[in-house]
Order: sequence, then C-alpha cells, then structure tokens
Amino acid sequence: MSRLRSLLSLILVLVTTILVSCSSPQVEIPTTYSPEKIAQLQVYVNPIAVAREGMEERLQGLIADQNWVDTQTYIHGPLGQLRREMLGLASSLLPKDQDKASTLAKEVFGHLERLDAAAKDRNSSQAKVQYQEALADFDAFLSLLPQAS
Ligand code: ZN
Repeated sequence: MSRLRSLLSLILVLVTTILVSCSSPQVEIPTTYSPEKIAQLQVYVNPIAVAREGMEERLQGLIADQNWVDTQTYIHGPLGQLRREMLGLASSLLPKDQDKASTLAKEVFGHLERLDAAAKDRNSSQAKVQYQEALADFDAFLSLLPQAS
C-alpha cells in the first residue's frame, strides 16, 4: 500500500514538472519590426506598391473609358502576380498582423475577380464598385505594413 502511495506521489511530481516546463516561455514572439526585418520586407513591398500605383494610374482610366478588353488584360497581366505577392508579404508580417493581412489580400482579390467578371459583362457600375472596394481593402492592407521612418 505504501509502495503504491509513493509511486503515485512520484507520478504527481513528474506531471507537475512537465506542466511547469511546458508553461515556461518558449520562442519569443516578435511584436515590433527590427530595421533588418523592415529592409527584408521592402523586397516584397516594392512590386506591391507598383501594383497599387498602376491601379490608380492605369486601371481606373480603363474602367472609366469602359475599355473592358484592356481592363481584363490588366487584371490578368500586370496584376497577375499580386495575389502571391500580397500573401507572401502577409506571412512575413508580425504574427499579430498576419491573419488580418491575408484576409485583406484575399478581399482585394475577391474584388478584382468580380471586377474581371463585371468587365466581361460590360457592367460599368458594378466594375466601378468593385474597383473602389479593391482599392479600399488594398489601402487597409498597406496600413498594416511598418512605416519607414
Ligand atoms: Zn472588401
């Protein structure tokens, strides 16, 4: 009987030890960007910033002109890599921002897909709505990036 009791207390000690070691801090989760990390992110940011400019300088005009063929070409051409680039950048952000960033990246793409469909249907009002929504989600995405000081 006493042997069983000492065995039980030994198990209790082992369990307690395991619990304590599990709750001790493991890998530290970064909550701010180091200058090195910001420099690294810049490689991803540049093509995305170019795409954002192109949306305003080129795509907006194509939609206003109801140039649906070039609108579709633009979405599939210059903006064709954007999904991968935005999701790549999202997964390189601080852990606390990653989910929000990838959700916004997918939002941008949902709107561009609907814009593509609207262009195919020659639906001008729907195209304008989806363009504006894509832009708003794009800017929300960009607001999550560290600002260069
Ligand atoms: Zn949206």
